Amino acid sequence: MGTQNKVIDQIFPETLKILSDLIKFQTVSGAPNFKLIEYCEKKLSKLGAISSKTINESTQQANLFSTINGKKKLNGGGIILSGHTDVVPASPKEWSSDPYVAREKDNKIYGRGSCDMKGFIACTLAVAPLFASENLKKPIHFSYTFDEETACLGAPLMLADLKKRKIDYSACIIGEPTSMKAITAHKGYNEYVTYFTGLSGHASNPERGVNAVEYAIRYSNKLMELRNELKKRKPKRTLFSPPYSTLQIGKITGGIGTNVIADRCILDWEVRPVAREDGEFINKNIDSYTEKTLLPEMKKIYPEATINKVTVGEVVGFDEKEGSEAVNLICNLTGDNSKDVVSFGTEAGLFQKFGISTVVCGPGSIEQAHTVDEYVTFDQLKLCLKMLIDLRDKLI
Ligand SMILES: [Zn+2]
Repeated sequence: MGTQNKVIDQIFPETLKILSDLIKFQTVSGAPNFKLIEYCEKKLSKLGAISSKTINESTQQANLFSTINGKKKLNGGGIILSGHTDVVPASPKEWSSDPYVAREKDNKIYGRGSCDMKGFIACTLAVAPLFASENLKKPIHFSYTFDEETACLGAPLMLADLKKRKIDYSACIIGEPTSMKAITAHKGYNEYVTYFTGLSGHASNPERGVNAVEYAIRYSNKLMELRNELKKRKPKRTLFSPPYSTLQIGKITGGIGTNVIADRCILDWEVRPVAREDGEFINKNIDSYTEKTLLPEMKKIYPEATINKVTVGEVVGFDEKEGSEAVNLICNLTGDNSKDVVSFGTEAGLFQKFGISTVVCGPGSIEQAHTVDEYVTFDQLKLCLKMLIDLRDKLI
């Protein structure tokens, strides 16, 4: 324990330095992240890591997957440390200081992404030399993805590439902010926008137009009806709160005034399924209501009328697995057996679907993620370093 604390103290300043560097890269979802990826790749390749990148050509974004085999050449059974490189936008006016310049105060580091989740990436990079200097029994992999915050667009590209290479992985740790607790499951997150196009006209004769706002309201009512069905479909055993899939309409935009028939309306809505089938249930039913009921009525008056549902993203849920290797590994490393479930989405479901035992555990509290003046505490970063050093000790 004593020597371990010494090691933590030794690498902590470097961790803060790396975190400050990472915060400087303004990697808001959708923006290029090449510079940050290059920075990480450079650090890891100096240690002898073998890297591969998967690139989203159109937007200049990349995922990095780097492997340290240690001194021996190893194959398979490795452990993946995974973090997303993108951050949510920050409006500088609301912040006490520049969101992209790390600021230390009261044993906390402030900055966009400090908590979600560049803090974890910084810890993995700071510990990487310790992995590299030893004879590992299993490889350690560093996985840094793009665009997690916008429906996990980066990870599928990387996972498809890993599949081609046919390497075995024994566990994946996703370092989203969980206050270093093992998270064993989360709901899925499906996001949709539905566009309604009708026919405008004078409000004195509504029947000659097709009111997009009114059709959007009927569509919403159907969604709310289906929401009640979701409650009835609640699984018998679940740790989630609420224990059923939820549906919510977040935004409705349409119309220009009282006396004009609205020809456009847009509906933003989401579903958080406890089981994938619930998401499919909603899609199937709302699509059939659109095709069989709403559209025929609209087209009778105006054949060009449309209802177009666009899927912004469908983040797969992360299911609880009994005897999960990854969860046991984390509980073992942290000495904390208080497993929990959360209501925010991560890339965990994607890794799990890929066949890798996965757990979510990382520094910082989700309460600080996505907020103005986002921060991570020194204590949380140190706990994460401790976990990673213990992991290294397990692998030698
Ligand atoms: Zn995150």
